[in-house]
Amino acid sequence: MSDSAYEAIIGLEVHTHLMTRSKLFCGCSAGFGAGPNENVCPVCMGMPGVLPVLNRHAVELAIRAGLAAHCEIAPESIFARKSYFYPDLPKGYQISQYELPLCKGGYIELPAHSEGAEPRRIRLTRIHMEEDAGKNIHESDASLVDFNRSGVPLVEIVSEPDIRSADEAGAYLRELRSILRYIEATDGKMEEGGLRCDVNVSVRKRGASEFGVKTEIKNLNSFRFVEKAIEHEVARQIEILESGGRVAQETHLWDPVREVTRPMRSKEFANDYRYFPEPDLPPLRVSPDMVEAIKASMPELPADQRARFVRDLGLTAYEAAVLTQDRDLAAYFETMLATGLKNHRTAANWVMTEVLRAVNETARPLADAAPLAIESGQLLKLVETGAISLNAAKTAFAAMCKSGKGAGATVAELGLAQVSDEGAIAAACDKVIAAEAAKVAEYRGGRDKLFGFFVGQVMKAMGGKGNPKVVNEILKRKLNA
Ligand code: ADP
Ligand code: MG
Ligand code: ZN
Repeated sequence: MSDSAYEAIIGLEVHTHLMTRSKLFCGCSAGFGAGPNENVCPVCMGMPGVLPVLNRHAVELAIRAGLAAHCEIAPESIFARKSYFYPDLPKGYQISQYELPLCKGGYIELPAHSEGAEPRRIRLTRIHMEEDAGKNIHESDASLVDFNRSGVPLVEIVSEPDIRSADEAGAYLRELRSILRYIEATDGKMEEGGLRCDVNVSVRKRGASEFGVKTEIKNLNSFRFVEKAIEHEVARQIEILESGGRVAQETHLWDPVREVTRPMRSKEFANDYRYFPEPDLPPLRVSPDMVEAIKASMPELPADQRARFVRDLGLTAYEAAVLTQDRDLAAYFETMLATGLKNHRTAANWVMTEVLRAVNETARPLADAAPLAIESGQLLKLVETGAISLNAAKTAFAAMCKSGKGAGATVAELGLAQVSDEGAIAAACDKVIAAEAAKVAEYRGGRDKLFGFFVGQVMKAMGGKGNPKVVNEILKRKLNA
């Protein structure tokens, strides 16, 4: 896209579950994983005549999301009925917010990946609250409906059309997920429907001031699908315009198997949801005191933590961005440092390579995949004091991931302690120098390059455990004698 005559314009509508114990308007469990229709009652089944009662915790979490995204929190917002027919929506409407949402404006700041680069800000239009619908399950001979999800609280986060590429959409989603997890509003598990995204895409000639006609791709449930769908849709629209055609304003579905979008409905069949204020719920009033109390309880956010990692710990912008992509990862890093490590960047790279590898290889949560952060910290402390080499630490770490044993015990068990004893190292050097007389003569005659060979031989003689710094010093002294 970068060298193309066209520019992509993208706006995202993200739906995410709020991590409350109960549903938005009834006392049923909002948890995931129960058997079909175990978490239901007349309210969330949409029976006639039942009354919704708003879940205060859900409102607090939505306000946390709004504050984290720098939104304005509306002192008064209104729930509305969004009417449509679908088997997973028995009451015939979804309770959502329309004209007066809880949160307005705001922005998400994307991490800069290179030094001194200005972070990009993607503006938000609004964040509003709504209830989720049930879930249709299509079997070979029947269609079934599970209402466990019906009435689970959601926020919808609507961005302005500020995103300019598939990569940027991915970066936006990753930052948004990270923020929502930092504030404990959501666990952001996409595979459980915890974060779903509608993608709006148009293209225009570079330099044009008006936006082109957009299409909307509904219900993408992985970041990779979002990126692929955007790439496909941008290419499709450019092709239409290049061949003299016009993009139709349509809603599409993404086919993850064939990796194409296909039309679901055109503008002529656009939904008219007949929004009107929900008569069974009073306006949602949020006092300044409530907002202040929530503000006071907010944790450090990823953007602030990134800035602190760069400013106070000397990390690069990239390192800080990777660590703050995930709250647990950042916490792991900080706990490692708390063991008294001096070299912050070594610890950062340890988390980004060894710890992330353990997570990716096992596909398990950090707490299950990697040893305790304190043990990783102890391991790197042994490196800092010269007791073991960095390579030995990696060997120990791999063993610790499997055994669950501590750093000290593992290093002892595997015999990884480094030999720094000058006498032992000098003896190994003497042995190598005696055995390699011809090469020693060459080296002394000016072939400096051979030094590395001697280091290798001494290390081999010491079973790889010689302290490389001491080996280098003693070897140089003896060869140059
Ligand atoms: P609709 O009425 O079709 O739902 P909205 O104005 O509510 O459209 O916008 C929905 C989403 O589409 C928002 O995220 C917005 O940023 C994005 N959007 C609006 N216009 C465009 C455009 N021309 N190209 C790409 N995205 C757009
Ligand atoms: Mg819309
Ligand atoms: Zn219920």
